[in-house]
Amino acid sequence: MGRSSKDKRDIYYRLAKEDGWRARSAFKLLQLNDDFDLFNGVSRVVDLCAAPGSWSQVLSRKLIDERSENKGKVKIVAVDLQAMAPLPGVIQIQGDITKISTAHEIISYFEGEEADLVICDGAPDVTGLHDIDEYIQGQLLLAALNITSHLLKHGGVFVAKIFRGKDVDILYSQLKVFFSTVTICKPRSSRNSSIESFVVCQNYSPPIGYVPIMCNPLLVDPNQFKSLEGVNRIVVPFMACGDLSGYDSDQTYPLTTSTGGKEYQTLSPIQEPINPPYQTACLLRKTNSLTSSDSTEQVQNKDV
Ligand code: SAM
Repeated sequence: MGRSSKDKRDIYYRLAKEDGWRARSAFKLLQLNDDFDLFNGVSRVVDLCAAPGSWSQVLSRKLIDERSENKGKVKIVAVDLQAMAPLPGVIQIQGDITKISTAHEIISYFEGEEADLVICDGAPDVTGLHDIDEYIQGQLLLAALNITSHLLKHGGVFVAKIFRGKDVDILYSQLKVFFSTVTICKPRSSRNSSIESFVVCQNYSPPIGYVPIMCNPLLVDPNQFKSLEGVNRIVVPFMACGDLSGYDSDQTYPLTTSTGGKEYQTLSPIQEPINPPYQTACLLRKTNSLTSSDSTEQVQNKDV
């Protein structure tokens, strides 16, 4: 790639090249670690959505290179849809984090142990349509939470990218069901112009009796939802109600009565509004003075 004006502008982009990081995102994880001490006592880590691999590089350098006593003890598993160039000490899986088979493959590398830390910098291809991008990012975060619920030990930590859009509250509430502490952070290396932030979720403590699932309760079809039981069913208890064969409030229907199909007679409201805002306009219409601004004033004054 040739030099662009961005090379000069973005300090983290340049620093990443100087320090040998595959992407400037490395600094985001390093800065999150500075504040939350994420790597303390950690020996099994999963890096979800890892390509091109700068977060895995950080893990490899911090957990293996800088702690020689950890050599052979630390397991780092990186997953991405895309292929990734190899990294020392990092097991790579080319797979989809929304698939249970990916969860099983990760588990197989931990030989019966659970992860201490799961990180996810996942992002879908951005469309530029903010609402859609936020929605898809939210779904990816929930997918990351689902797979994490199969992998993480009780008390473990989950870090993930989140878009701080208007629906961030529901994601936060969902995460709070599983972690006792949830913090939303913006590392300095994350551009101010971006709505990107990161959730640091500490002390994994799912509801008692929670069974890890891969279906997303916000999206499940009604049949899948019905098959959820116990606490699994109360996690984000959102569902669209009503029989699909019932009336659709967005559709126009012929003016017949609901029973018998006779022509519909317009009925008066059960309770008239006491002081409706359209009263003035009705009065104006009745006195045939709707277009005259003078008479609007007159009528308004009369009202007062
Ligand atoms: N943390 C990485 C680093 O430091 O190099 C950068 C990650 S990049 C911003 C986002 C990645 O998410 C992409 O490589 C993309 O392939 C991956 N991704 C998106 N959806 C995914 C999915 N369902 N399963 C696995 N990876 C996914």
